[in-house]
Amino acid sequence: MPELPEVETIVRGLDPILRGRQISGYQLFSRKAWRQPDFTCLENLCHKIVQRVWRRGKFILLSPTWGPTLIFHLKMTGRLVWVPRTTPHPKHLVFILNFRNSREELRFIDTRKFGYISCRPTEEVISGEAPELAGLGPEPLEIDLEQLQTILKGRKGRIKSLLLNQQVIAGIGNIYADEILFRAGIHPLRPAHTLEPEKVQLLWQTMRDILQEAIKKRGTSFRDYRDAANRAGNYQQLLQVYGREGKPCPHCGQPLQRRRIGGRSAHFCPRCQK
Ligand SMILES: [Zn+2]
Repeated sequence: MPELPEVETIVRGLDPILRGRQISGYQLFSRKAWRQPDFTCLENLCHKIVQRVWRRGKFILLSPTWGPTLIFHLKMTGRLVWVPRTTPHPKHLVFILNFRNSREELRFIDTRKFGYISCRPTEEVISGEAPELAGLGPEPLEIDLEQLQTILKGRKGRIKSLLLNQQVIAGIGNIYADEILFRAGIHPLRPAHTLEPEKVQLLWQTMRDILQEAIKKRGTSFRDYRDAANRAGNYQQLLQVYGREGKPCPHCGQPLQRRRIGGRSAHFCPRCQK
Protein backbone atom coordinates (compact mmCIF):
# COMPACT_ATOMS: atom_id res chain seq x y z
CA MET A 1 0.00 0.00 0.00
CA PRO A 2 1.35 3.45 -0.84
CA GLU A 3 2.37 5.21 2.36
CA LEU A 4 3.36 8.80 3.09
CA PRO A 5 6.56 8.83 0.95
CA GLU A 6 4.80 7.30 -2.07
CA VAL A 7 1.78 9.58 -1.80
CA GLU A 8 4.06 12.59 -1.28
CA THR A 9 6.04 11.61 -4.41
CA ILE A 10 2.84 11.42 -6.47
CA VAL A 11 1.70 14.79 -5.13
CA ARG A 12 5.06 16.42 -5.86
CA GLY A 13 4.86 15.04 -9.38
CA LEU A 14 1.30 16.19 -10.03
CA ASP A 15 1.23 19.58 -8.36
CA PRO A 16 3.46 21.44 -10.85
CA ILE A 17 1.74 19.72 -13.78
CA LEU A 18 -1.85 20.42 -12.74
CA ARG A 19 -1.53 23.83 -11.10
CA GLY A 20 -3.32 26.44 -13.21
CA ARG A 21 -4.97 23.91 -15.51
CA GLN A 22 -8.68 24.06 -16.12
CA ILE A 23 -10.71 20.91 -15.48
CA SER A 24 -12.86 20.16 -18.51
CA GLY A 25 -14.60 16.91 -17.60
CA TYR A 26 -14.42 13.49 -16.07
CA GLN A 27 -15.20 9.86 -16.82
CA LEU A 28 -16.09 7.40 -14.08
CA PHE A 29 -15.72 3.71 -14.96
CA SER A 30 -16.37 2.19 -11.55
CA ARG A 31 -19.36 3.50 -9.58
CA LYS A 32 -18.10 1.65 -6.51
CA ALA A 33 -15.02 3.86 -6.34
CA TRP A 34 -17.10 7.05 -6.12
CA ARG A 35 -18.02 7.72 -2.47
CA GLN A 36 -20.84 10.18 -2.99
CA PRO A 37 -24.59 9.70 -3.48
CA ASP A 38 -24.55 11.64 -6.75
CA PHE A 39 -22.26 13.47 -9.16
CA THR A 40 -23.06 17.08 -8.25
CA CYS A 41 -19.64 17.56 -6.75
CA LEU A 42 -17.90 16.32 -9.91
CA GLU A 43 -20.13 18.50 -12.09
CA ASN A 44 -19.18 21.46 -9.90
CA LEU A 45 -15.51 20.79 -10.54
CA CYS A 46 -15.82 21.19 -14.28
CA HIS A 47 -14.35 24.46 -15.60
CA LYS A 48 -12.55 25.08 -12.31
CA ILE A 49 -8.85 25.94 -12.24
CA VAL A 50 -6.56 23.71 -10.17
CA GLN A 51 -4.92 25.65 -7.36
CA ARG A 52 -2.84 22.85 -5.86
CA VAL A 53 -2.42 19.12 -5.40
CA TRP A 54 -1.54 18.28 -1.81
CA ARG A 55 -1.53 15.52 0.77
CA ARG A 56 -2.94 14.72 4.18
CA GLY A 57 -1.89 11.34 5.61
CA LYS A 58 -2.26 8.94 2.70
CA PHE A 59 -4.92 11.05 0.95
CA ILE A 60 -4.20 12.90 -2.28
CA LEU A 61 -6.14 16.16 -2.52
CA LEU A 62 -6.84 18.22 -5.61
CA SER A 63 -8.16 21.68 -4.80
CA PRO A 64 -9.40 24.22 -7.34
CA THR A 65 -9.05 27.98 -6.79
CA TRP A 66 -12.78 28.00 -6.09
CA GLY A 67 -15.02 24.98 -5.50
CA PRO A 68 -14.86 21.53 -3.91
CA THR A 69 -11.74 19.43 -3.34
CA LEU A 70 -11.33 16.05 -4.97
CA ILE A 71 -10.08 13.37 -2.55
CA PHE A 72 -8.25 10.22 -3.65
CA HIS A 73 -7.24 7.25 -1.52
CA LEU A 74 -5.09 4.71 -3.35
CA LYS A 75 -5.53 1.96 -0.73
CA MET A 76 -3.71 -1.25 -1.76
CA THR A 77 -3.06 -0.96 -5.47
CA GLY A 78 -4.32 2.42 -6.69
CA ARG A 79 -2.26 4.51 -9.09
CA LEU A 80 -2.74 8.10 -10.13
CA VAL A 81 -0.92 8.78 -13.36
CA TRP A 82 -0.61 11.58 -15.88
CA VAL A 83 -0.57 10.03 -19.34
CA PRO A 84 -1.26 11.01 -22.98
CA ARG A 85 -4.95 10.79 -23.80
CA THR A 86 -4.08 8.48 -26.68
CA THR A 87 -2.70 5.83 -24.31
CA PRO A 88 -5.01 2.80 -24.55
CA HIS A 89 -7.27 2.41 -21.53
CA PRO A 90 -5.85 -0.17 -19.12
CA LYS A 91 -8.04 -2.94 -17.78
CA HIS A 92 -8.50 -1.56 -14.28
CA LEU A 93 -9.19 2.05 -15.17
CA VAL A 94 -11.45 3.63 -12.53
CA PHE A 95 -11.60 7.32 -13.31
CA ILE A 96 -10.29 9.99 -15.68
CA LEU A 97 -10.05 13.71 -15.08
CA ASN A 98 -9.74 15.77 -18.27
CA PHE A 99 -8.19 19.20 -18.66
CA ARG A 100 -8.77 21.93 -21.22
CA ASN A 101 -6.28 22.07 -24.11
CA SER A 102 -4.35 19.13 -22.70
CA ARG A 103 -2.87 16.22 -24.57
CA GLU A 104 -2.62 14.35 -21.28
CA GLU A 105 -5.17 13.31 -18.70
CA LEU A 106 -5.17 12.19 -15.08
CA ARG A 107 -6.04 8.52 -14.66
CA PHE A 108 -6.91 6.58 -11.54
CA ILE A 109 -6.14 2.91 -12.07
CA ASP A 110 -6.75 0.26 -9.43
CA THR A 111 -6.36 -3.49 -9.94
CA ARG A 112 -7.84 -4.55 -6.61
CA LYS A 113 -10.46 -1.80 -6.52
CA PHE A 114 -10.19 -0.88 -2.83
CA GLY A 115 -9.20 2.69 -3.65
CA TYR A 116 -11.81 5.43 -3.77
CA ILE A 117 -12.55 8.99 -4.79
CA SER A 118 -14.63 11.52 -2.97
CA CYS A 119 -15.31 15.22 -3.03
CA ARG A 120 -15.92 17.72 -0.22
CA PRO A 121 -16.05 21.45 0.29
CA THR A 122 -12.44 22.67 0.41
CA GLU A 123 -12.98 24.41 3.80
CA GLU A 124 -13.97 21.06 5.32
CA VAL A 125 -10.91 19.39 3.86
CA ILE A 126 -8.59 22.08 5.23
CA SER A 127 -10.23 22.06 8.66
CA GLY A 128 -10.22 18.25 8.74
CA GLU A 129 -14.02 18.09 9.17
CA ALA A 130 -14.51 16.18 5.92
CA PRO A 131 -15.61 12.66 6.99
CA GLU A 132 -12.80 11.02 5.01
CA LEU A 133 -10.19 12.98 6.96
CA ALA A 134 -11.98 13.24 10.30
CA GLY A 135 -9.94 11.99 13.24
CA LEU A 136 -6.67 11.74 11.32
CA GLY A 137 -3.67 12.10 13.60
CA PRO A 138 -0.92 14.66 13.04
CA GLU A 139 1.60 14.49 10.20
CA PRO A 140 4.79 12.66 11.24
CA LEU A 141 7.01 15.19 9.45
CA GLU A 142 5.29 18.09 11.16
CA ILE A 143 4.99 17.10 14.81
CA ASP A 144 7.70 18.06 17.25
CA LEU A 145 9.20 15.81 19.90
CA GLU A 146 6.91 17.08 22.67
CA GLN A 147 3.83 16.25 20.59
CA LEU A 148 5.07 12.72 20.01
CA GLN A 149 5.78 12.32 23.73
CA THR A 150 2.24 13.47 24.50
CA ILE A 151 0.79 11.08 21.93
CA LEU A 152 2.62 8.04 23.29
CA LYS A 153 2.30 8.87 26.97
CA GLY A 154 -0.01 6.53 28.82
CA ARG A 155 -0.67 4.42 25.73
CA LYS A 156 -0.51 0.74 26.54
CA GLY A 157 -0.87 -0.33 22.92
CA ARG A 158 2.03 -1.91 21.06
CA ILE A 159 4.24 0.65 19.40
CA LYS A 160 3.91 -1.00 15.97
CA SER A 161 0.11 -0.88 16.10
CA LEU A 162 0.17 2.74 17.23
CA LEU A 163 2.42 3.79 14.35
CA LEU A 164 -0.02 2.13 11.94
CA ASN A 165 -3.06 3.76 13.52
CA GLN A 166 -3.96 6.71 11.27
CA GLN A 167 -5.89 8.31 14.15
CA VAL A 168 -2.68 8.43 16.20
CA ILE A 169 -0.28 9.55 13.47
CA ALA A 170 -1.18 9.87 9.79
CA GLY A 171 0.65 8.42 6.81
CA ILE A 172 2.79 5.57 8.13
CA GLY A 173 2.04 2.01 6.98
CA ASN A 174 3.57 -1.40 7.42
CA ILE A 175 6.79 -0.92 5.45
CA TYR A 176 7.95 2.30 7.10
CA ALA A 177 6.76 1.31 10.58
CA ASP A 178 9.00 -1.79 10.40
CA GLU A 179 11.95 0.18 9.04
CA ILE A 180 11.59 2.97 11.62
CA LEU A 181 11.38 0.55 14.56
CA PHE A 182 14.38 -1.42 13.32
CA ARG A 183 16.60 1.63 12.95
CA ALA A 184 15.46 2.98 16.32
CA GLY A 185 16.13 -0.44 17.92
CA ILE A 186 12.60 -0.72 19.29
CA HIS A 187 10.78 -4.06 19.43
CA PRO A 188 7.44 -3.82 17.58
CA LEU A 189 5.57 -5.49 20.46
CA ARG A 190 6.78 -2.99 23.03
CA PRO A 191 3.95 -1.14 24.80
CA ALA A 192 4.28 2.54 23.88
CA HIS A 193 4.20 3.84 27.47
CA THR A 194 7.30 1.81 28.40
CA LEU A 195 9.56 3.75 25.99
CA GLU A 196 12.17 5.83 27.80
CA PRO A 197 12.34 9.55 26.87
CA GLU A 198 15.60 8.93 24.96
CA LYS A 199 13.89 6.16 22.97
CA VAL A 200 10.96 8.42 22.11
CA GLN A 201 13.43 11.04 20.94
CA LEU A 202 15.23 8.44 18.83
CA LEU A 203 11.91 7.25 17.42
CA TRP A 204 10.93 10.82 16.53
CA GLN A 205 14.24 11.51 14.79
CA THR A 206 14.27 8.12 13.00
CA MET A 207 10.71 8.57 11.78
CA ARG A 208 11.66 11.90 10.21
CA ASP A 209 14.91 10.57 8.74
CA ILE A 210 13.41 7.48 7.15
CA LEU A 211 10.35 9.21 5.71
CA GLN A 212 12.52 11.99 4.26
CA GLU A 213 15.04 9.51 2.84
CA ALA A 214 12.20 7.54 1.26
CA ILE A 215 10.71 10.70 -0.27
CA LYS A 216 14.15 11.49 -1.71
CA LYS A 217 14.23 8.00 -3.23
CA ARG A 218 10.72 8.59 -4.64
CA GLY A 219 9.14 5.88 -2.48
CA THR A 220 9.19 2.11 -2.32
CA SER A 221 7.93 -0.03 -5.21
CA PHE A 222 7.42 -3.29 -3.44
CA ARG A 223 4.57 -4.38 -5.70
CA ASP A 224 2.25 -1.98 -7.46
CA TYR A 225 3.28 1.51 -6.57
CA ARG A 226 4.23 3.90 -9.39
CA ASP A 227 4.63 7.67 -9.29
CA ALA A 228 2.59 10.12 -11.35
CA ALA A 229 4.85 9.52 -14.36
CA ASN A 230 4.34 5.75 -13.96
CA ARG A 231 7.90 5.20 -12.70
CA ALA A 232 8.86 2.86 -9.87
CA GLY A 233 10.41 4.20 -6.65
CA ASN A 234 13.89 3.31 -5.41
CA TYR A 235 13.63 2.93 -1.66
CA GLN A 236 13.01 -0.85 -1.85
CA GLN A 237 16.78 -1.27 -2.34
CA LEU A 238 17.35 0.33 1.05
CA LEU A 239 14.84 -1.70 3.06
CA GLN A 240 16.58 -3.31 6.04
CA VAL A 241 13.87 -5.57 7.47
CA TYR A 242 10.59 -5.31 5.56
CA GLY A 243 10.05 -8.41 3.40
CA ARG A 244 13.38 -9.88 4.55
CA GLU A 245 12.25 -12.52 7.06
CA GLY A 246 14.78 -15.34 7.46
CA LYS A 247 17.57 -13.22 6.00
CA PRO A 248 20.43 -12.07 8.24
CA CYS A 249 19.99 -8.84 10.19
CA PRO A 250 22.15 -6.14 8.53
CA HIS A 251 23.57 -5.29 11.98
CA CYS A 252 24.07 -8.56 13.85
CA GLY A 253 23.49 -11.36 11.33
CA GLN A 254 20.69 -12.97 13.37
CA PRO A 255 17.85 -14.19 11.09
CA LEU A 256 15.13 -11.55 10.84
CA GLN A 257 11.71 -12.58 12.09
CA ARG A 258 8.22 -11.97 10.87
CA ARG A 259 5.30 -12.08 13.25
CA ARG A 260 1.60 -11.22 13.09
CA ILE A 261 0.72 -8.22 15.23
CA GLY A 262 -2.88 -7.03 15.23
CA GLY A 263 -3.61 -8.57 11.85
CA ARG A 264 -0.48 -7.12 10.20
CA SER A 265 2.93 -8.70 9.84
CA ALA A 266 5.92 -7.15 11.58
CA HIS A 267 9.48 -7.72 10.39
CA PHE A 268 12.19 -7.24 13.00
CA CYS A 269 15.47 -8.43 14.48
CA PRO A 270 14.92 -10.28 17.77
CA ARG A 271 18.41 -9.30 18.93
CA CYS A 272 18.72 -5.64 17.89
CA GLN A 273 15.19 -4.56 18.80
CA LYS A 274 14.42 -4.45 22.52
ZN1 LIG B 1 20.11 -7.61 14.55
